Amino acid sequence: MGQGQGRGWEGAVLRLMRAKDYVFTVTGAEDVTPEYRRLHFTDGGMLAATGVHPTMWVRLWFDNAGKPHQRAYTLVDPDPAAGTLSLEFALHEGCASDWARAAKPGDTVEATVQGTGFESPEPAPSHVVAVADPASLPALNSLLGALGPVPATIWFEGSLEGLPYRAAAHHDVRQVERRDAGRHLVEEVKAALPDLLKDTARPYVWIACDTATTRALSAHVRKELSVPRQRVNALGYWRAS
Ligand SMILES: Cc1cc2nc3c(=O)[nH]c(=O)nc-3n(C[C@H](O)[C@H](O)[C@H](O)COP(=O)(O)OP(=O)(O)OC[C@H]3O[C@@H](n4cnc5c(N)ncnc54)[C@H](O)[C@@H]3O)c2cc1C
Repeated sequence: MGQGQGRGWEGAVLRLMRAKDYVFTVTGAEDVTPEYRRLHFTDGGMLAATGVHPTMWVRLWFDNAGKPHQRAYTLVDPDPAAGTLSLEFALHEGCASDWARAAKPGDTVEATVQGTGFESPEPAPSHVVAVADPASLPALNSLLGALGPVPATIWFEGSLEGLPYRAAAHHDVRQVERRDAGRHLVEEVKAALPDLLKDTARPYVWIACDTATTRALSAHVRKELSVPRQRVNALGYWRAS
């Protein structure tokens, strides 16, 4: 203790990297489905200081039996002028999920801004391929909103029923059941991608699933399908155990 305001080495490292801390206060909650909960917050001055970019995320600090537990969450509808934002939690077992399940107006959580960023694909994509799941749905919505009316093919692991997916006419969505720890999704995407990319002049591939699935798919896209590294954005969103 004593380092990084009692958050151990992770806090100390983030502090050395000049991360900034803010306190979010819950102002409301919505149970979107039994497994997906949206919380509304005031931002403690964060957005005015940091600005906003597509798929922006923060590190939130939760208490895990007295130890700091840091997890990433994506900003939903951030409004710097109002100083408000929402977060959407795909619920499962875990400290962050437990906190979100119980959160009520007046509750607070600390946020650190470090590591988030976004580079608009240049030149603009002629076709977007996105692979996502409930944890990356907020980021998927943000990404597709930022890229505008580009045709997009989206593989979604799980069911979108009742979830706040921001559909558009130029999106082709393929829902795939999670089976074999994600390997089923990997096979489905691998089977369809070559044909899809064949006629795509400027693809942009965005992958945000569990870490193993993300790694398998991004390696395939870059090595087997030869999509240039700068046209592939892949980040593991959670670790399956
Ligand atoms: C950049 C970024 C942005 C993210 N944005 C969001 C977001 O907006 N909304 C959101 O819900 N998640 C988001 N995530 C994912 C979230 O950070 C993880 O799911 C995190 O592990 C949740 O923490 P926890 O304390 O609830 O569970 P942990 O303590 O991390 O894990 C507990 C158990 O739950 C399992 N688990 C963890 N996450 C999932 C999951 N998503 N699905 C099924 N099982 C899981 C683990 O394998 C483990 O067995 C984001 C991740 C990244 C990297």
